[in-house]
Amino acid sequence: MRIKKLDPISVSKPSHHKRIDHSYVMDLFGCSKFGYYEQVNQKGIHTLKQVTESCRQPTTGIYPDELKKKFEHISLDHPLYDIDDALQELQELYLKDTTYYHHPDYISHLNCPIMNVSLLAEQIATAMNTAVETWDQSAGATFIEEKVIQWLIQQVGYKTKADGVFTTGGTQNNLMGLLLARDRQGLCEMGHQGNTFAGLSANAHKYRIFCSEHSHFSIQKSAALLGLGYQSVCPVACDQNLRMDPIALENEIKKADASGLIPIAVITTLGTTDYGTIDPIDSIADVCERYKCWLHVDGAYGGILLVMPSYRYHLRGIERADSVSVDFHKSFFQPVCCSAFAVKDKNMLSLLTYHADYLNPLSQKLQGTPDLINKSIQTTRRFDALKIWLSLRTVGAQALGHMFEQLIYTTKQVYQYMESIDVLEIVIEPVLSTIVFRFVHPKCNLEQLDHCNQSIRKHLARTGRAVIAGTKFQNKSYLKFTLLNPETKVASICDIVDEIVAYGYQEYCNVKNYQFT
Ligand SMILES: *Cc1c(COP(=O)(O)O)cnc(C)c1O
Repeated sequence: MRIKKLDPISVSKPSHHKRIDHSYVMDLFGCSKFGYYEQVNQKGIHTLKQVTESCRQPTTGIYPDELKKKFEHISLDHPLYDIDDALQELQELYLKDTTYYHHPDYISHLNCPIMNVSLLAEQIATAMNTAVETWDQSAGATFIEEKVIQWLIQQVGYKTKADGVFTTGGTQNNLMGLLLARDRQGLCEMGHQGNTFAGLSANAHKYRIFCSEHSHFSIQKSAALLGLGYQSVCPVACDQNLRMDPIALENEIKKADASGLIPIAVITTLGTTDYGTIDPIDSIADVCERYKCWLHVDGAYGGILLVMPSYRYHLRGIERADSVSVDFHKSFFQPVCCSAFAVKDKNMLSLLTYHADYLNPLSQKLQGTPDLINKSIQTTRRFDALKIWLSLRTVGAQALGHMFEQLIYTTKQVYQYMESIDVLEIVIEPVLSTIVFRFVHPKCNLEQLDHCNQSIRKHLARTGRAVIAGTKFQNKSYLKFTLLNPETKVASICDIVDEIVAYGYQEYCNVKNYQFT
C-alpha cells in the first residue's frame, strides 16, 4: 500500500490556493474510507499473528548495544511512504526482540498476559480517541468509568459516600493517596489556608509517612514530588512473614509524635511486589484511627483478591481505609495502563478540583454534569476503564479470580518442588504468585553467591531460556519468579528451576553434568 510522496518544495511554500491532496487525508480514521482502516488493521493482525506464532522464547536475549546498531541508519526525516515497509521495519526494530509477556517462561516482573476482549476494548476506545476528562468529551465513557468505580467500591465494601477515578497505575495511586493525606493535614492547621491555595505549611517538613520496609519505592518518589522528601518516609519493621508489624508501627508513630513530628499517613501493601505478602489491614486501621493518620491500601498486585471470596480474610478491615488502589494491569489480565484509585469519602477528591472556564466550569458542576477531571490529577485521560469493563461484561469477575487462583496453586506446587532442593534457599512461602529464592552452596562465600545468582539470571535471559527477576533480601542477591500466566505449567517452571541449579553447580562448584534424581 503506497502512500504518495509529498513534494518537499511545494510543502514549504505557503499557498492560499493549494488544494488538499486526499491521499493523505485517507490516513485519518473516520474521515475517509473505512476500508483503509480495515486494510491496515488486517496487516497489523497479520504481523501479530506472525510474531505470536513464531515466538519460541520469551526473549531473544539481545543486548542494548546490539539492538542499538539497527537504529543507527534510521532517519525520521525520511519516511518509507509505505505501510508494508514500515511494518517490516518494525518487526526488525521492535517485535523480533520484544520481551514476550505471553510466553509461559516469562516469569519476571508484574506484567500479565492480557484478555483478548480487553485488547479489543483498547482498540475501540483508541479508535474513538475518547478522552474522559469531561462529560462533553465522553458521554457514555464517563458512565462506564463511574460504573466500574462503583463496582470496585462495592468490592472494597465502602459505603455510598465513596468515589474514585481511573489512573495510570500504582505509582499515581500512591501519589494520590499521599497527596490527599498531605492536603487533609494542611486543612487542619490553624492559620493555614490549605496547601492547594497557600502551598505547603511551615509544618510540612515535620510530616511523616509510615510504610513497611517492603512497600513500593513509588512512596519515596511521591514523598519527594509532594515536597516532603524521602526523609518523611519512615520504614516500619515487619514480622517474620514480611507483613508490617502493627505494634512496631504504633511505636514508630509514637516516637515521631514525641519528637514533635506529625504522622500523616500509613500505606499498607496488599501484596508486596517481591513477596506478595499482605499487611494486616484491620490492626493497622486501629492504629491509624488512634493517631488520625490517613490509611492507604496499595493493592497494585494483590487487588485481585477482592474478587476471590476464599481469600477475603486477607483483606479484613480494608473498608476502613481512607483510600484503596488496584492495578488491573498487574493482576486482572488487563493491558497497560488500567488502574483505579478509590476513596472512602468522596469529598476528599475535591482537593484535586480546579475549575477551568473552558473545560469544567463550576457552573457545570453545579448543574450536576459528571466531569471526571474534577477527581483526577490528569487532564487528557485515556478511557482505560473500557478494558476491565469488557472483561467484566464477558467473562466476569469470578473468572478473573479463578484465573488468579490457578496461579496461586501453580506457585505453591513450584514452591514445594523447590523446597525439596537443598541448594535453594527460599525467603518465604508464597502468598500470591511470586517466589524469591537463591542458589546456595556451602563451598561458596557470600560474594560468590551474589555473583552466582546474578549470573544465573543473566544467563537465562541471554540464552532466551527464561526471563526471571532479581532482587535483594537482607542485602543479598536473590532471584524471583513472578507467575502471572494461568497457562503456565508446573513442570515447565520446574524445568527452569533445574537449569538454575545445574548452572549454579557448573559455574561455581565445578560440578559438571549435575544429574537430577
Ligand atoms: C507495581 C507496583 C506499584 C507501581 O504500580 P505502577 O502501575 O507500575 O505504577 C505500586 N505498588 C506496588 C505494591 C506494586 O507492585
